[in-house]
Formats: sequence, structure tokens, C-alpha cells
Amino acid sequence: MTKPPADMCSLSLEELSRHLVSVGEPAFRAKQVFNWLYVKKATSFDAMSSLPKSLRDKLSAGLPFPALSEHSRHRSDDGTVKFLFELHDGQRIETVFIPTSKRGTLCVSSQAGCKFGCRFCASGIGGFKRNLSTGEIIGQVLHAMRTAAPKPITHIVFMGTGEPFDNYDQVFKAVRLLNHPDGLNIAARRITISTCGIIPGIERMAQEGLQVELCVSLHAPDDAVRARLMPVNAKYPLKELLAVCRRYAETTNRQVTFEYILIKDLTCTKTAAAALARLMKGWLSKVNLIRYNPVSEFTCQAPSMDEARVFQAALESAGVVCTLRSARGDDVSAACGQLRNKRS
Ligand code: SF4
Repeated sequence: MTKPPADMCSLSLEELSRHLVSVGEPAFRAKQVFNWLYVKKATSFDAMSSLPKSLRDKLSAGLPFPALSEHSRHRSDDGTVKFLFELHDGQRIETVFIPTSKRGTLCVSSQAGCKFGCRFCASGIGGFKRNLSTGEIIGQVLHAMRTAAPKPITHIVFMGTGEPFDNYDQVFKAVRLLNHPDGLNIAARRITISTCGIIPGIERMAQEGLQVELCVSLHAPDDAVRARLMPVNAKYPLKELLAVCRRYAETTNRQVTFEYILIKDLTCTKTAAAALARLMKGWLSKVNLIRYNPVSEFTCQAPSMDEARVFQAALESAGVVCTLRSARGDDVSAACGQLRNKRS
């Protein structure tokens, strides 16, 4: 497994200051470099024209830019844009920009491949390759901001390939850079971390003191069905997972969002709706319903829109806050669960 090199966008402001001092430059230059990187979105040290040439030379000698290059880009009929990036070691990752009338959401990957093998998700099919560096995560955002956005990127969701809590340190360093006033300055509440249910990660995130949103992939209201869909349920079963989510909501006073895939005759039934409502009622939670998006390796089927609406109505009549998410980018395999890092 290749360890990604330390790169420019993996450094916090403090680390960059220390690096500059170590090469004989004043620490105040760090903010100027940050401004070039995150406000002006320079693509090379040479482009940082207000910095002395000697400083630019020292930077390029010691710190590579994130090795992430766009391999291809697909635009869906609904305006969704899917990027395929190639990393310095040939690994590939995908990033999806989803514009709506009110916001521009960028869905970023946190790992190349995924080890959790959920049985509705294309990202786990090829197995796990490696963690992304902070710079490779930030690089996805910078690239999309520079090149893709027909409208500004207002929200970042860690819902691309990989499990963010399985790469916790790099992901949270990236979150702090996204949120930093001298970095990309994106409000923490506009950043969402989505987990397949890694309990220690949820407990750790509760201590971060950040207003980042927590989203948990639930996908079934009981252990039997959840274990069929998500092998991670064997390690972190439903009862313990929900207990830690409730504690998270109580300690942080923040709502927990649950993603729930509607699969015909499996998770989209009257019984499942009643069971899910019992789990969600009476605490700070919300459910996002997503109709299953087809992946050729799996035999699951999506329910009809009418069946999905009946499920949603059952939850709502039981007092559960929920939304039925419309599929975005499914014509270019960019919808939820369809990312697999293919070249075309
Ligand atoms: S849903 Fe998330 S955790 Fe599960 S296989 Fe896909 S990327 Fe991995």
C-alpha cells in the first residue's frame, strides 16, 4: 500500500508556519500562502506571483501540490457533475457536484475503495485500496470550485467512496481546513460526515466541538435485515448504534440524520415503516429516504415512487421528520451507492 506524500493542502496553518520558519522564512508568510491556495485557488507555486521567487522555490522544493488530476468528467441531464480523479499512485476516486436551486453540494471521497462492502453500494465491490491524505480530500474541493461549479459550492458531504471514520484523522484535518477562516471558510454546519455506523467514530466526533452534521447509514430497522445489507452490523449492532446516536444528540444538542435505502419488499414495507418509526420517535433525529439506485452486481429492486411515498407518509403520520430524496446523477452512475471509480 502506498502512503500518500505530505503535500501542500495537507498542512494546517500552524504546520505551514512551522515549515516556513524551518526553511528560513518568516511565519507570517503562511497566511499569504493560504490566501493564494484557498482564496485565489492557485494551481501552482509559480502562480503565487506576489510571493518572492526565492520563497516559491523553497515551497516547491519541499511540498508537492496534491497529486490529483482530473481523468474525466460526466455531466448528468439534471446538472449533476461527476469527476473521476487519478491520484499520484494511479488510484482513482470520484467526486460529485450536485446543484439545486438553493445550494451547491459537493460529495467527496475519503478513501480509495472501501472495506465495508455494503450490499447495495458499488464503492465496496473492488475492495479497499488506501486512505486519502487531507490534501487529496481538499484537492477534490479546490478542483471542483475552480473548474466545475456552474454555481458556488455551499455544502460539503463526506458521502463519496470510503468510510470517513476509517480515515478519521485525515478527514477531520480536512474538515478544519474547509472550515478555517483563512482556509475555505465553509461553515461547519454545512459540512456533513456520513458513516456506516462506526461507533467509536461517532463517540469521537461528539468530542470535536464542531457543528458538523452527522449522518448515519441505517438502511434497515432490525438487525436481521441490516446485517444482510451491511456486514458492519455484526460489529456495531443496531441497538448499540442507536444508543450512541441518542447520546450524541443529547451531548451535542444536534440532530442526527439517518439514511435509509428503500428496497422493494425488503426495507420498503409497512412493517419496516412501523419499526423504523419506533426507533426514531421522541428524540432529535431525522430520516432521509433514498430509493435504491441500481448497481448491476446486486439483485435489489427499487420500489415505485408511489410505494416510496406510502412509506414516507407512514413515518410522517407517526411523527418522524423525514424527506424522500430524489435521485441525482443516476444517468451517469453518480447517484448514491453507484460510485465505483470507473474510467467511463
Ligand atoms: S455505503 Fe459507504 S461504507 Fe458501505 S460500501 Fe459504500 S462507501 Fe463503503
